[in-house]
Amino acid sequence: MTDCLFCRMVAGEIPADVVHQTDRVLAFRDISPQAPTHVLVIPKEHHATVGALAETDPALLADVVAAAHAVARQEKLVTDGSEPGYRLVTNTGPAAGQTVHHLHVHVLGGRDLGWPPG
Ligand code: 5GP
Ligand code: ZN
Repeated sequence: MTDCLFCRMVAGEIPADVVHQTDRVLAFRDISPQAPTHVLVIPKEHHATVGALAETDPALLADVVAAAHAVARQEKLVTDGSEPGYRLVTNTGPAAGQTVHHLHVHVLGGRDLGWPPG
């Protein structure tokens, strides 16, 4: 039993709107979408931050990024010729607004995302 929200989703204890998964990675829609496409991609194994994962298992981090790209393609954000594009965001710590301490990459797209981010 864990009190980590995303570990509980991986375990199937909390429902998730899953859009893509592999043996090591899960992608599901954000409960409070900030864009027409707002999907969270997580490693199934618990790692707190992107930096921690990069140091302990860089191959798994590459799997997370590859899954994010696969989701973007599935959402028609990556197409041949005219590419609307997408943004990957991963927050670390309170200043960046990290609220769930299980690494997740936000895949955002489907609108003009603006720059710089808030
Ligand atoms: P953070 O602020 O840590 O970068 O992002 C956490 C994200 O998790 C937020 O965008 C928030 O809407 C999302 N979230 C929080 N609780 C749930 C939940 O129970 N289900 C889903 N699908 N997303 C959640
Ligand atoms: Zn976790």
